[in-house]
Amino acid sequence: MVREGGFPPGTGAMLGRTALIPSSLSHYVKRPERRSKPGSVHKDDKEKNSRDNEPGDAAMRKLYLGVDVGSVSTNLVLMDGSGTVVADVYLLTRGRPIQAIQEGIRLLAAQGWDDAQVAGAGTTGSGRLLAGVIVGADVIKNEITAHAVAALEMVPDVRTVLEIGGQDSKIIIIRDGVVVDFAMNTVCAAGTGSFLDRQAARLNIPIEEFGALALKSNSPVRIAGRCAVFAESDMIHKQQVGYPVEDIVRGLCEALVRNYLNNVAKGKEILPPVVFQGGVACNVGMKRAFEEALGVEVMVPPYATVMGAIGAAILAKEATGATGRTRFRGFQVASVRYDTESFECEHCPNGCEIVCIKMEGQLLARWGSRCGRWDTVPEEQPVRREASG
Ligand code: SF4
Repeated sequence: MVREGGFPPGTGAMLGRTALIPSSLSHYVKRPERRSKPGSVHKDDKEKNSRDNEPGDAAMRKLYLGVDVGSVSTNLVLMDGSGTVVADVYLLTRGRPIQAIQEGIRLLAAQGWDDAQVAGAGTTGSGRLLAGVIVGADVIKNEITAHAVAALEMVPDVRTVLEIGGQDSKIIIIRDGVVVDFAMNTVCAAGTGSFLDRQAARLNIPIEEFGALALKSNSPVRIAGRCAVFAESDMIHKQQVGYPVEDIVRGLCEALVRNYLNNVAKGKEILPPVVFQGGVACNVGMKRAFEEALGVEVMVPPYATVMGAIGAAILAKEATGATGRTRFRGFQVASVRYDTESFECEHCPNGCEIVCIKMEGQLLARWGSRCGRWDTVPEEQPVRREASG
């Protein structure tokens, strides 16, 4: 098996990730070049050599599991106590989060990490409660906190985090290491990874080449990027007029950045250092477009695609640090049968939809009630047991 760069770089390819991700999304598993520039991404200093991240060494080290379950992707990382990512997995959720989480755990185990001492587990993302129940999380946190924590770990003096994922985007404003403001956009598709994938497919360009193609342009075409529909129809029009494809692609990147700055980032004070993360951060055309629009360097961390999971792992380390106890259920959760069901509470006009998760038929957790009537898994409330070996 191939090991490069201090972690399983081909986690996807090696563990079958390429089989799980359509080629149109394969750019999400590619990492940008490691940075060595002082003061940019400090994480590299911690990645000492590839031997540090051999699974054979895992049993000797405490590791922390981070899981980020979103509507598009499910990401898992294993991080050691020094903050080095030793393994990462990126999977498409495909509307089946339980299976995606279990597959992620299974892939880590197949790499040999099931011998590791997992000393803590954290979950985030829209499916964080579900993931927390399945893996046995010590901490369950929202995406804003997880992404901010990860960005601060990489660039301690970061003041702005731009995050664009497969289906949503967010901005986080940080001052003196504290989140002071944020905004999320889950409505407009323009600028998200899914939108870029569709346009790349429509232009018949492999998404991996999309960003590099944009950089070849010296004369970008102005494309209306107010919303996804406008952007697509304007792009088709510009194609029909006969503009070179690289100018259209660069124009599209610029339009999506304008859309982001005028919507998600509207009214926010964007100050450097600026960190750009999420799947779209791997698109060098988008990075360049942000730099030109903002007039500052935009840093893309080495693990831009899995920053939410990294944040969850860091939070897990903090949550378990004092006691050395964890709720992590072990890698065997990959083969346990989980079922979910839901019902509508009729005790008041709110009519909350209550989600139940069962393990081998036994009720594990319920959530979804506005009043807490049915909840059995209070968010962000750790309950721990001895660390699994
Ligand atoms: S869970 Fe609580 S708030 Fe929701 S419908 Fe039932 S009683 Fe009302």
